[in-house]
Amino acid sequence: MKILVPVKRVVDYNVKVRVKPDQTGVDLANVKMSMNPFCEIAVEEAVRMKEKGGVEEIIVVSVGPQQAQETIRTALAMGADRGILIQTDEMAEPLAVAKLLAKVVEAEGPEMVILGKQAIDDDSNQTGQMLGALLDWPQATFASEVELSDGKANVTREIDGGLQTLSVELPAIVTTDLRLNEPRYASLPNIMKAKRKPIDAKTPEDFGVDIAPRLKVIKVSEPPKREAGIKVESVAELVDKLKNKEGVIG
Ligand code: AMP
Repeated sequence: MKILVPVKRVVDYNVKVRVKPDQTGVDLANVKMSMNPFCEIAVEEAVRMKEKGGVEEIIVVSVGPQQAQETIRTALAMGADRGILIQTDEMAEPLAVAKLLAKVVEAEGPEMVILGKQAIDDDSNQTGQMLGALLDWPQATFASEVELSDGKANVTREIDGGLQTLSVELPAIVTTDLRLNEPRYASLPNIMKAKRKPIDAKTPEDFGVDIAPRLKVIKVSEPPKREAGIKVESVAELVDKLKNKEGVIG
């Protein structure tokens, strides 16, 4: 069985993003970029499945600029087998990415695609679901546990107020939630080995997919600054402030 794992290169989660002075977007100059954390969890899960047996190959794919190759290499160092870079300098929206992934699925024939539940830059939480719709495959989103048996995946999902367990027929789409696993750090020998693993270079045109944006960004702005809190001396003062100053109690 083959597993496809799409990985996105995003601003590192430790970076405090800055809005560009002209408010057209976020400043990406000299900013540390990394693999989207939910994609790391997806790679880890695929590698664990391979280690358990029954998975022959893990293919990682990224849609992004030339530097997204580094993101693919990180996944290869974690244990994936080969990569595909679909190179573009345009910011591909989730629908464009899903269309490209559908073409890769057609060409590669994986039994499962494991994606992150969301990319931490656009926070869309759309690509996996759109891919499921385009392929007409079952989807189990927000997975906190995945177990393969007899051509099915039993997936425990985090939902409001609890956990739900679904059984989906393969081929299927799974998207990862935070508690699915803790991704490994790549060891130095594996980083060296990853340098020899193949990465196929493609473009959106090779797949005949138009990735022109469908959305127009009107303005990007910082959230309003939080005002400092105050300390009160007594409960009576607290009640007074809530009642007479803030008006939150009657
Ligand atoms: P999103 O729908 O943008 O929140 O992204 C959800 C997941 O879709 C990510 O965690 C990735 O697994 C995948 N994905 C989104 N954009 C890309 C991209 N440009 N290249 C590869 N995978 C992507």
